[in-house]
Amino acid sequence: MTPTIGDAMSVQRVLLAEPRGFCAGVEMAIKALTWMTRIFEPPVYCYHEIVHNEWVVRAFEKVGVIFVDDIDEVPEGAPVMLSAHGSAPEVVAGASERAAVVIDAVCPLVTKVHHEVKKMSSKGYDIIYVGHQGHDEAVGTVAEAPDSITLVEPEQGLGDYRPSDDSKVALLAQTTLGMYEWQKVMDDASARFPDLATARKSDLCYATTNRQEAVGQLSDECDLILVVGSHNSSNTQALVRVAKENGVESYRIDSADDIDSAWLEGKTVVGLTAGASAPDHLIEEVIDRIDPEQGFELWKVTEEEEYFPLPPQLRQFVTTLQNLVEAGVTAKQPAEGGYLERDRTWTASEALKLISA
Ligand code: SF4
Repeated sequence: MTPTIGDAMSVQRVLLAEPRGFCAGVEMAIKALTWMTRIFEPPVYCYHEIVHNEWVVRAFEKVGVIFVDDIDEVPEGAPVMLSAHGSAPEVVAGASERAAVVIDAVCPLVTKVHHEVKKMSSKGYDIIYVGHQGHDEAVGTVAEAPDSITLVEPEQGLGDYRPSDDSKVALLAQTTLGMYEWQKVMDDASARFPDLATARKSDLCYATTNRQEAVGQLSDECDLILVVGSHNSSNTQALVRVAKENGVESYRIDSADDIDSAWLEGKTVVGLTAGASAPDHLIEEVIDRIDPEQGFELWKVTEEEEYFPLPPQLRQFVTTLQNLVEAGVTAKQPAEGGYLERDRTWTASEALKLISA
């Protein structure tokens, strides 16, 4: 039986944020890499961690995926997937040159920012990109137009930033920032550059804002907020910062094993959420470990229905595979959907169970 720590503490309830955990981009990327491991003999290569979650990365490593941080590490002729965070143009070109098959699992919402960078730089704008130096998404985005972009850390703000022309400045952002941090830079940039070109709302994606909105609400109800996710997950770290901004004690944990029982002393209501790349079973283990006296309740702020289809290159493989199976083994009934039609209801959690079996 899983040891619990709730008995010795005073935790009455856990409020479980909804939405939490996997977003549509992560769902797509995990399922896409699962397909790669089913279609190709190992090893399958993946440029950068497919998503920033240690548990997910280890699960794929166990079935023969090799993660690399340099595309030159991919042997000639091997199959390679590019991660959900988006890759620099030279990485995409390098992968195409050496790999037999390249599947780009970039999230469409990251691609949208890449397009904006290219568009604004071709129009001669100086671009302020608010993001975290060295984060995979920021590296890939800045590489689209390095001569036109200045990366600004959200915590540091614009500082003494000076564009070449005050009337041609654009503001773009990493999709996973904290809303408050982003807003501060946005307000400052708007005040300094009245003609500032920027996204109507922001580049923060729906998953980032929804999860932060839930944490904002939970902050009024909880004595402590735990966020499940890995250290290099930007949106996970942002959730912890949002809770702290709201005056609530908060910690990031990779799993239930990271909970320090001292955090729970004197706490009656604990909020629980997860970054966009954290699997839900890790959350369930946290609830089991805390073992609140009155159990857990969902704290729902909105319904998410976003769905991103598998990358186009992979869809072709899946269709071909299906056609071969049907031609050689059995014909599909006309009314039945194929693998791609069923993808909408197949979840990344089921995909992870498949490779972990
Ligand atoms: S967090 Fe947002 S941008 Fe990142 S993969 Fe998920 S949906 Fe896409």
